[in-house]
Amino acid sequence: MDWPERLVMVRYGELFLKSESVKHHFIGMLLRNIRKALSVACITCHFETPRGRILIYGDNPETIADIVSRIFGIVDVSVCIRTSIRLEDICSKAVTLASTNLHKDMSFAVRAKRQQKTGLNSQELGKLIGSAVYNHIPGLQVDLTNPDYELFVEIRDFGGLIYDSRIPAPGGLPWGTQGRVLALLSSGIDSPVASWLMMKRGCEITHLHLDAGRWAGRDVTETAIANHRKLSGWCSGNPLTLVIATSEHLFDSMEQCRIPSRYRCVICKRFMQRVAGHLMQKEGALAVVTGENLGQVASQTLANLSVISEATQVPVLRPLITYDKEQTVTIARMIGTFVSHPGDLTCRAVPNMPATAAVLETVKSCEQKMNIDDIVKKSLTDIRLITALNGEIISET
Ligand code: ATP
Ligand code: MG
Repeated sequence: MDWPERLVMVRYGELFLKSESVKHHFIGMLLRNIRKALSVACITCHFETPRGRILIYGDNPETIADIVSRIFGIVDVSVCIRTSIRLEDICSKAVTLASTNLHKDMSFAVRAKRQQKTGLNSQELGKLIGSAVYNHIPGLQVDLTNPDYELFVEIRDFGGLIYDSRIPAPGGLPWGTQGRVLALLSSGIDSPVASWLMMKRGCEITHLHLDAGRWAGRDVTETAIANHRKLSGWCSGNPLTLVIATSEHLFDSMEQCRIPSRYRCVICKRFMQRVAGHLMQKEGALAVVTGENLGQVASQTLANLSVISEATQVPVLRPLITYDKEQTVTIARMIGTFVSHPGDLTCRAVPNMPATAAVLETVKSCEQKMNIDDIVKKSLTDIRLITALNGEIISET
């Protein structure tokens, strides 16, 4: 088959650490995810999988590279020129590519790698290709430590691959290799990042948002839906479901039963765990994920987190537990969920002085007084489902 000259080369990282059979399985999942992500964007492609790489051939390699650079399990992506195995061909294509981006007075380096164990070694190849470039473009300097421009050449059994840029991808493990989790998604900055980090570790996700009605700021639920939509752009072409259940009556009940306001946050978080617990089996989820952090807000103390975890039997994963806010914000910006001017997201139920060391027995007796099991059931009788794919909402019931 005659392949087009330009193609996309995908590098994967951590998968290398796996045993042969696991690696084979994970690469299969990664390929499936790449195919899905490209097919929902209506792009048809051909693939090759030489050792350690995935090569993608299709029209418009730049668009393919852009889509693929959002797929978990991939470390980076390059648009390459493919050449024959002949050295003259490799040198002349290297010169052609370098000529577009490397100019007079710039320093450069050629980083060559070869698969064959005979013939010129990688260093000799680098020198040879480097000389061809040096002789063709006047006024260059070679700088192997800190060059203005790098040209990468990989020589494989089937020919050469030449490129000069690497688009970073998120790394992690392919979507779907680690089972499903139920992620509690709010309108805030933290929980979308927590959900994204779990996707990055290969988990499939179902989102759950609790709509507190009149107790929530005007824009809370819409912002949570927007977070859900944006996160669906990171699911490798897989649909992402958001379950919205109601929690308004929880706060009404806390008010009616005169529950001390300082316990509201802990009772609210325990309630979310309970609702999540009821949905887990139906969704096939094995753990709950939250954006909780240690010490970020007054209610996020170790004592409170342990009282919250007590409300559920399943593992509660808190990927942001050790993060500084700035680290979380950096990721939120990178993944597209950070909004610099959020609307009205204030929770009207948050007390001035939340309990920082809630006592489990006291919390439990408050919950008994409110008939918490009935409240949980009620919240599950009226749910909305919103499915998003590739950054767009595709169904709503
Ligand atoms: P975030 O922590 O996501 O920035 P937040 O600050 O509004 O949102 P917190 O009170 O810090 O929320 O809640 C801690 C965690 O509880 C959130 O990270 C999220 O996982 C979950 N959570 C909070 N509110 C909701 C909600 N309305 N629906 C679903 N999950 C929620
Ligand atoms: Mg928070």
